[in-house]
This record gives sequence, structure tokens and C-alpha cells, in this order.
Amino acid sequence: MSEELFRRASAVTPGGVHSPVRAFRAVGGTPFFTRRAEGATLEDTAGRRYIDFCMAFGPLVLGHAHPAVVAAAEAALRDGSSYGTADLYSLELAEFIAARIPWAESIRFVNSGTEAVMTALRLARGATGRAKLLKFAGCYHGHVDSMLIRAGSGLASAGVADSAGVTPGVAADTIVVPLDDVAALRAAFAAHGRELAAAIIEPLPANHGLLPQRPEFLRELRALTAQHGTLLVFDEVITGFRLRFDGYAGLSGITPDLVTWGKIIGGGFPVGAVAGSRALMAELAPLGRVYQAGTLSGNPVAMRAGLATLQQLADGTAYAELETLGMALDAAFAGRGLHLERVGSVFWIPGGAPRATLRRPDAIPPALVEPFPGLFHAALAAGIYLSPSPFEVGFLATAHRPTDIDALATALGSIAR
Ligand code: PMP
Repeated sequence: MSEELFRRASAVTPGGVHSPVRAFRAVGGTPFFTRRAEGATLEDTAGRRYIDFCMAFGPLVLGHAHPAVVAAAEAALRDGSSYGTADLYSLELAEFIAARIPWAESIRFVNSGTEAVMTALRLARGATGRAKLLKFAGCYHGHVDSMLIRAGSGLASAGVADSAGVTPGVAADTIVVPLDDVAALRAAFAAHGRELAAAIIEPLPANHGLLPQRPEFLRELRALTAQHGTLLVFDEVITGFRLRFDGYAGLSGITPDLVTWGKIIGGGFPVGAVAGSRALMAELAPLGRVYQAGTLSGNPVAMRAGLATLQQLADGTAYAELETLGMALDAAFAGRGLHLERVGSVFWIPGGAPRATLRRPDAIPPALVEPFPGLFHAALAAGIYLSPSPFEVGFLATAHRPTDIDALATALGSIAR
């Protein structure tokens, strides 16, 4: 059945999918087609059910079709799906966040993580009057032209585009630096600091495996950006509202100048956001000279689903539940012969044998990810859906039960030996 659907999809859509990883290129085989989802479970068009550890790549911290989110979205739909005016619901969501994250004084909602990053970077350039951007090799910030740049060799290099369609001119304005390398970071600031509008980082890099950074590296980045008048952007599209309500900034005690959010903030609907101080955010239109707009921005259905989600998270009990699940994951994988990296409810199982925490993409040995396709398909056959790439992380949701974790460990452990 999925073969036939994939053939049809491929006839009308490039590669049969609307976002590349979904095509299973990294693991081989034909993707199943989801018909519905609830709690921790996905159900495909053949009626097969899978325990879902991909969780739509991060938005579904409560699991699929959480009753509070469904109720909020249903009620919202009855009140009209888009207004194009000032509205109560985007106000309520912004106030809910600003009341709990002191440095997020002012928030602009957009429709995706990519848009949030695009807006933050334009804002940084507009506010500083500078052109260049600094990013880290292996960090993903959506498909913004200037962020589709990989590291060149050397300490810090002007980037070479990863994607066709990104001009050399755009790439030349992005400086790429390795993660976990203070000397390279200092060298990049020494060479380009006065031209850098922004330095952007996933404070917990989670798009090339899971590569936790040392606190001193992030502190050095904060110090160098402050010293050079460069704005520090924490891309918390994954980590925002996931590790704790105030995200990695809260966890690390390091305050960025701007934060980008996505995923959880929309409760499974398309939302992104940029936040920062009132003074900095005032650079955005209609107050400031940096233009940014969106027909569907602040969409009331998405805003109300997002608020319903954040309301479930605000008192912190959900994070305690997720940590308990995470510890069960650690315990279930101990002695299974598989590398597991985990921070809160974000985890990475690349397929190979355990090793020390990795902090940069070029430290990932090929042997660590080679077994992943076999593992992925063994899990799938056992009714478990992992993110379909060895470089994508997995997500726990409050909808998961300890038995789901045992099922995962059993399925993977049986083939890892
Ligand atoms: N930033 C980070 C850290 C992300 O993980 C992602 C998406 N995985 C994005 C930005 C882009 O978000 P979106 O896919 O919603 O455009």
C-alpha cells in the first residue's frame, strides 16, 4: 500500500514528500503514509500502529492529539480561522511567555522556525548596520539562504553553500566556525568581529546528532559577542519550552540578545517566534526600519493550540515527567551496546557502540552511524518509529509510557548484539 501511495506522491511532489527527511533516503525503503495519530502512536494507512519517537521532529511535547490542544484548536476554528487584524489570542500567548521569560520582553510571531531565524538575522543586520553572520558547522537554522552554509577548512572560513541556489555573495557573508573550539571562535572574532551583525547557535546542537556544548564554550561566545557589539541569537526552535519552560537560555543561565522559537510554541501548528528586549524588537516594522510581515502570522488556531500546550508546561511537572522517562531510557539502554546521548527529552541513538559525548560533527566516526539503517528498520518492523536519519534526534513526549521505552530498547538491543 505505501509503495502505491509513494508512487502517486512522487508523481505530483518532488521525491514524494514536502520535507526531505520524510522520504527515508537516509535509511532506505519506502515511507509509510500516516493516516492518524494519538498519544504516542502513529497509525498508517494499512492500519499498522507505531510507537512514535520522532514526534513530528519536536513540536509534540505532549504527544499527538493531546485533549487540551484538540479542544483549544476546535474552539478556535469555530471562531474563524484567520482574522488579519489585531487579535486577543496572539496577545494572550505573547503575554503568557513574556510573563515567564523575563528577557523575552517583546515577541513577534511568524509561521515557522525558518521564518523566525530569517527575521532574527535581518533584525540583527538592521539594528547593527553590519552585514556578516557567524554560525557553527553542524548547526541547522532552517532553510534560510545564509544559513545553508557548511564549514570550510581552516579555523574560520567564509562559507561555501551546501545547497544549489545559494549565491556565492550570500555565502561570503556567513562565517562558519567549528563547535567546541574556543580558539577558532576567538580567531573568528579577531578577524571579523566588527563586521558581525549576529552570531547564531543552537545552544544544544541537535541537528547533526546531539552535540552538547561545554558551558565555557557558550560563555565565551556570549563574552565575545558582547565585546564586539555582535548580537547573540540562540536558536531554540528545538530546545525552547522543551528542556524547561525558559529553554536552554534558562538552563545555562546565558541570556542571548534574541531567541528564535518554533515547534512546541505552536502546539503542532505552524508557528515560529522571535523574542528579545523591547528596545531591540522595536527595530521591527511598524516601529522600526526592519521590515517583516505575514498574512497568517499570529494565526488564531495556532495561537490557541500553542497557548494550550504552554499552559500544560508552565508549572514544570511535565519536565519532571519527561526526565523520569529519560532516565528510564538511559536505564533501558545501559548494557545494550548502543550509543545513547540524551539531554532531557531529546535523545540520539546513532546506531553504533557507546562512546564519550561528542561535541562537533567531524568527531562523529562513520562507524557510529553506519548501523543506523538496520536498526531503524528493525525498530519499524517491531512497530517503533524512530526519526528516519542517523543524524536526527528523537523526542520523548509526556504521552510516552515506560513500556514504550522498554519496547524500543528491546527492539534495538536485540539487533545490536
Ligand atoms: N532551527 C532549528 C534549530 C531547527 O531544528 C529547525 C527545524 N528542525 C529550524 C530552525 C527550522 O524550523 P522549521 O522547520 O519550522 O522552518
